[in-house]
Amino acid sequence: MSIRLSGLQNISSSREEVKVDTAVKEKSITELFNQNVFNYAAYKKYLMRDAYDNLMKAIANNEGIDERTADFVAVGMKNWAMDNGATHYTHWFQPLTGRIAGKHDSFFKLDKKGRPIESFNGKILVQQEPDGSSFPNGGLRTTHAARGYTVWDPTSFAFLSETEYGKVLCIPAIFISYTGESLDLKTPLLKSAYALDKAATDVCKYFFDNVTSVKANLGWEQEYFLVDENLYNARPDLVLCGRTLFGNASARGQQLDDHYFADIPERVQNFMIDMEKDCYIMGIPLITRHNEVAPNQYEAAPHFESVNIAADHNQLLMEMMSKIGKRHGLRVLLHEKPYAGINGSGKHNNWSLATNTGINLFDPGKEPSKNIAFITFIINFIKAIDEHAELLRASIATHGNEHRLGANEAPPAIISVFTGDDISNLFKKFLNDDLDSEIEVSEEINIDLQRIAKIQKDSTDRNRTSPLPFTGNRFEFRAVGSSVNVSNPMTVLNTIVADQLLKFKVEVDNLISNGTEQDEAINKILKSYLKDSAKVIFNGDGYSQEWIDEAEKRGLPNVSSTPIALLAYISDKSKGLFTRNKIFNERELQARFNVFIEEYTSRLEIESLLVEEIANTQIIPSVVSYQNKLIKNVNGLQNIGLNTEAKSNKIKLTEISTHLQGMIDNLTMMTKAKEEAHTLSTEYDTACAFYDTVKPYFDVIRKHADKLEMLVDDKVWPLPKYRELLFLH
Ligand code: ADP
Ligand code: MG
Repeated sequence: MSIRLSGLQNISSSREEVKVDTAVKEKSITELFNQNVFNYAAYKKYLMRDAYDNLMKAIANNEGIDERTADFVAVGMKNWAMDNGATHYTHWFQPLTGRIAGKHDSFFKLDKKGRPIESFNGKILVQQEPDGSSFPNGGLRTTHAARGYTVWDPTSFAFLSETEYGKVLCIPAIFISYTGESLDLKTPLLKSAYALDKAATDVCKYFFDNVTSVKANLGWEQEYFLVDENLYNARPDLVLCGRTLFGNASARGQQLDDHYFADIPERVQNFMIDMEKDCYIMGIPLITRHNEVAPNQYEAAPHFESVNIAADHNQLLMEMMSKIGKRHGLRVLLHEKPYAGINGSGKHNNWSLATNTGINLFDPGKEPSKNIAFITFIINFIKAIDEHAELLRASIATHGNEHRLGANEAPPAIISVFTGDDISNLFKKFLNDDLDSEIEVSEEINIDLQRIAKIQKDSTDRNRTSPLPFTGNRFEFRAVGSSVNVSNPMTVLNTIVADQLLKFKVEVDNLISNGTEQDEAINKILKSYLKDSAKVIFNGDGYSQEWIDEAEKRGLPNVSSTPIALLAYISDKSKGLFTRNKIFNERELQARFNVFIEEYTSRLEIESLLVEEIANTQIIPSVVSYQNKLIKNVNGLQNIGLNTEAKSNKIKLTEISTHLQGMIDNLTMMTKAKEEAHTLSTEYDTACAFYDTVKPYFDVIRKHADKLEMLVDDKVWPLPKYRELLFLH
């Protein structure tokens, strides 16, 4: 029996084997929350007063932590970890693979006399030296000069990672080279958050007396698909690439619009509850779960947190989802486009700026026209997006997102901002010096139904077609892909807004020093920004062809190729931006570009190898065996003189043979295109050639295969079909 057929048989048995952990039933979420986290409460309990105060002071002032304090923290952390059952520790970091990395070391050691002891100190807490020449570095390190350092990030809490047999203390860390250049995703994120804090705080001084810091908050929404592991195991494309390279559309897909927010299947809800329980223990504040638009697609979202912590938590969630899914016989697909023809998955990044005094700078308040701080921050945001649209596009450019952007229900590859009518009206009034005229407040909706409470309208409608809508008190960067580490897009967003705010401050201060009143100076500069960047505002249907045409007229970039989009990382403009704000030096930028380009080509190379393998070893042999059956049948019918009856199968045979030949011819041409791509002189040219000349064959080969799927006997088809992957759970 094929793995597909045995997989189909085993679906219900894998459901029965799930071990149910009922901790959430016995304890409230608040009791579970942070149980495995060395947070401030744990610091207080496990640290002497002095050490605790020094640590808090250092964190608050963005200063380094002295050796003595680090030693105290290390002992406290170790004691807490061991009291809670940990035996090992690791620096937990995020190299350019986008995944989590770490090497587990035991607290247990042998002392000089060979006696077993448990030890951990400040030096080990602060800094470790992984021999990391195998991590992607884009040319920043050569194999013979491989030294790299991981360094503790005290702004993100250490936590315990737990399996059935034990626990490991995970210490969030950054990863840098011997020369101090960053080799990870977290270092630039932290630098960008710092730059933004400084720039936004300075601008806040125009409006508020007591603001001393501003932080970027992020609330991500993680979309994902689930699939039964028995079917997953029979799909090498899902196992190795996270997406289906073949598969004819299911007769029923998402036409009925009946999955979004629908009743969550029981098996899936059990998985979610189990996963959320582990998240609470690890301090990830998940609050939302629901069915998404496509069949078997779901979403999880937490309460927002500061961008650094939120990025760590999202990374942790993705790793945990996959592990916990396995307990339930399910596989989590985080890929942006696991299935052709239906919705892909995004990771909407809800982003806002909050002052230490509790003000959300993107909250228009009750009287937006009197809220000049809000007007300042929203206009500067829009200006930053307009100025650096290409770079923002680069920040979400991955091979997976390339399949999603502009496809079913995903924003196109054009960067624009949706402001909604209220904000657009506000801008009009602002430009016409008309802010004192009547203020439009969101009204109530009258539905004329007794006993139903009054409905308050939001200040903006939703626009799911925009890559970056304003959603009332924050911006939602919807174009980010579901599988990525959010640090890249968040670093770019933080940096471009920081840079813009710095420029704004300089321009306003210049006018003030030339004798202009502060309010007038602010007004003047904001108006010029708004006029300059009006072209990036679009409130209509982002999925329409009209918008694509209109965007072209407005001169907005629309880049579908990942390698071309990535070029924006190394443009002169971006180099200036990143070096000015001390996020990357030019070498680091070039290195990142190299890594991303290399990853793009490698992923397409893997996909192409798998297209060949699945076609040659699974699809073609099964089709040929069915073809032989048909030939026998046709011959047999003809032998007994039933020539007319043999005709329909003869036609079918011709159709099958045409598609088989189509697959074989295109496989040969794809191999040739790949060989040519590899002869090109730069990695960038190779990546472009993969996009232009190799990748298109995937679709052609697939089209033939998908047609064959509909022509041959269901029993011989080797790969689980779309209807099985999407509807069986
Ligand atoms: P949607 O209805 O857009 O799908 P969800 O409830 O799924 O919304 O997710 C909304 C996300 O926005 C959550 O992660 C939430 O914490 C986040 N969010 C809410 N307010 C803010 C804010 N001020 N700043 C950043 N994120 C926010
Ligand atoms: Mg949502």
